[in-house]
Amino acid sequence: MMKNIYKRAYNETMMNLCDVCGREDGLQNMNMQQCQSCGVCVHETCYGLTNYATEGKKHLGWKCAPCSAIGQKLRVSKPSERYRAISITSRCTECAVCSVNTGNHAMHLLYNRHGEEGTPLVLPANKRKGVEERVAWVHTLCALFIGSREKVIFGCKKDGTYLGEDDEFDDDEESNHQELDGEELLSLNNPHHFVVAGAARDCEDDVWARAIRDVKEARYKCFICGLKNGMKRHTLAIPCCHENCSQSFHVGCARWGKLSERFDRIKFNPGAFNDREEDYNPATALGYCNIHSKKRKDICTVIKKQDLRENISRKLKTEKACLKDSKRQNGSQLPGQKGQNDSLPELKPVTQICVQTNENKIEKKTS
Ligand SMILES: [Zn+2]
Ligand SMILES: [Zn+2]
Ligand SMILES: [Zn+2]
Ligand SMILES: [Zn+2]
Ligand SMILES: [Zn+2]
Repeated sequence: MMKNIYKRAYNETMMNLCDVCGREDGLQNMNMQQCQSCGVCVHETCYGLTNYATEGKKHLGWKCAPCSAIGQKLRVSKPSERYRAISITSRCTECAVCSVNTGNHAMHLLYNRHGEEGTPLVLPANKRKGVEERVAWVHTLCALFIGSREKVIFGCKKDGTYLGEDDEFDDDEESNHQELDGEELLSLNNPHHFVVAGAARDCEDDVWARAIRDVKEARYKCFICGLKNGMKRHTLAIPCCHENCSQSFHVGCARWGKLSERFDRIKFNPGAFNDREEDYNPATALGYCNIHSKKRKDICTVIKKQDLRENISRKLKTEKACLKDSKRQNGSQLPGQKGQNDSLPELKPVTQICVQTNENKIEKKTS
C-alpha cells in the first residue's frame, strides 16, 4: 500500500528544476548543478555548494553526495561499540525522516551526533522487509526545512562543528519562522551532513533535545503516509503552517507523495546573499495541507492533457479492436448466429437512449 503512493510522484528533476527549492536555474542568481550519475538538479545554494560556485559555471563531472558515496566504506559506530565500516553499494533513495523511499532526490548523510565523534547513523536490518543494515540519509529538503521550522535538525561541517554552536535557543513563541534572519540562514548553508537533535541516546538534555521531544510528544501524524511521530524512530511529521490547522505531514511526503502533482504544499527557499545587498533573497520554509495549499495549475493542465491523449488513444484502440472483431465475426458467421453481434456497436444505443430521454422530457413538459 505505502509504496504505491510514491509511484506517480511529481519529480522536479524531470523538469530540470531544483530538487530542494523546486525552482529553475538562474533564478535570483542561483546557479544549478546536475549530478552526472543520477541526474538530480540542485542550486548550489540549496545543496550547500556555495564554496564550489564559480560564477555560474556548470560542472560536467559533478556528482551528488549519495552518488559519490557509492563504492565507499563509511566508518560508523554506536554507543559502546567499536568503530566498524559499512559499504555503500547503491545510490540511496530512502530518507530517514519521511516515508519517501524512491526517486533520486538531493540527499545528505544523517549523523548520530555533532562533534568529532559523530558518525553516520545506522538503520537496522529488517528481515521481514528484506532490508539490510545501512547508513541513514535524509532528503536535503527535509533536513533544511525541518531545521529552519522546528530547529531540531541541523547541518554540520565535515569536522562536526556547526555554525551558531554557542547561540542560545530562541524561545520566542510568536516566531513561526516564516522568515529567517541572516545568521540562521548561514547556519543552514554548506552542510556536510545533518544531525537530528537527540538522535544519540546518551546525548545531553539540552535545548535541542527538549525541542525534539516536544515535536515527538505532540504525536503529529502525516496525513499522506499515515505514520505518527514516535512510531518509527527518526521520522518527523510537522504541522501545517495555516493557523489552527490540525493536519501534519512529513516534508518529503508533502513534496513527492500522493497528489504532489496537484498541490503546491511545500514552499522552501534557503535564501541567498548576492553581491548587491538589495538582492538579498530571504529564506522561507512554509508547508501546507491540501486544503491550505495552492493547486498546481501548470502541472494539472499538463496531466489533464496527458490523460486526455491517453483516453483518446485508448478509445481509438478499442474502436479498432471492435471493428476487427466485428469483421472477423461477420466473416465467419454462420446463418442463425445473429445474437453474437449484440454487444458490438455500443455508441448507437447510448445516443438513442439520450434522444429518448430528451423526447420524454419534452413530452412531459408539453403534456
Ligand atoms: Zn534550489
Ligand atoms: Zn547523484
Ligand atoms: Zn509521511
Ligand atoms: Zn525526506
Ligand atoms: Zn492546513
